[in-house]
Amino acid sequence: MAQTAISPPAIVTVIGLGQMGLPMSRRLLLAGFKVHGADPAEPARAALAAAGGKAFASAKEAVAGASVVITMLPTGKVVREALLGPDEVAASLPKTTPIIDMSSSAPTDTTSLAEALAGLGLTLLDAPVSGGVKRAIDGSLAIMVGGPADVVEQVKPVLAAMGKSIIPTGRVGSGHAMKALNNYVSAAGLIAACEALLIGRTFGLAPETIADVLNVSTGRNNSTEVKLKPFIISEKFNSGFSFALMAKDLRIAADLAKHLGLTVPQIGAVADLWEKAKPGLGADADHTEIYRYLADLDANR
Ligand code: NAD
Repeated sequence: MAQTAISPPAIVTVIGLGQMGLPMSRRLLLAGFKVHGADPAEPARAALAAAGGKAFASAKEAVAGASVVITMLPTGKVVREALLGPDEVAASLPKTTPIIDMSSSAPTDTTSLAEALAGLGLTLLDAPVSGGVKRAIDGSLAIMVGGPADVVEQVKPVLAAMGKSIIPTGRVGSGHAMKALNNYVSAAGLIAACEALLIGRTFGLAPETIADVLNVSTGRNNSTEVKLKPFIISEKFNSGFSFALMAKDLRIAADLAKHLGLTVPQIGAVADLWEKAKPGLGADADHTEIYRYLADLDANR
């Protein structure tokens, strides 16, 4: 029997109130849902409480009474630990409670997590997002959803509070596969934009001119449009998406190609470049700092 759609004022629990989880929670509150959030970081909990949600340090306390549980955590391994670790958060849920992993997790981790949760009678959807902090704030994220169609329908009002495009991708894990592929295409476009900026500047072109011309020409892409001027040419490097998280996504995409036995040379090269750059940029680096790494290559030779 089809489940009734989960609508406001149902309780939505969000585990992980970081750069993305917090603004996504604010959108849920604006749509009329009650939001119970969990995060070990006190400032994140204070920010949710200030927005009208209820914040908990313990995920197990946060999921009590929830109609649906969302995870928005760094990796699939962290998601698994949060749900199936010693706190037994998943085991405490009624079987009717869907769990949606909106983090960018590895699809193979997701399918194995879905199996483990099915053993507890629970359904997992993977619904990663694209659009970054800006689109999390204005509720216009792109959301790609894997999992059973009836459960996707059931949680649609919840997803619609956070995103504009909600695209079913097939079985569980397919959303995460799609997300890794999207970030590969995005990172490859960013590297091309950064290399063009570096070469053009060294030749004597003004950085703003390079961005302006690309943005009205066939070289235009998301990075030339929304990253070159605000974060790279300005040297602010504060897009809100970390270097480490992008490096993780690229490794997921490259591993997926390997897992499928495909020879696709550039995806591995991009993932390797990101991994090589990571240690020198520091733990808090923004992903747009790939430009700093590229610009320093000749200086450090
Ligand atoms: P973030 O590091 O800002 O936030 C993660 C939050 O999870 C932190 O507040 C941390 O304290 C919390 N956390 C860690 N372990 C926890 C646990 N066991 N229980 C509860 N909370 C815990 O990361 P983010 O930028 O918000 O990204 C989250 C996910 O979304 C990642 O998978 C990332 O790849 C993906 N993503 C990020 C962006 C972006 O622009 N930042 C865009 C799309 C997708």
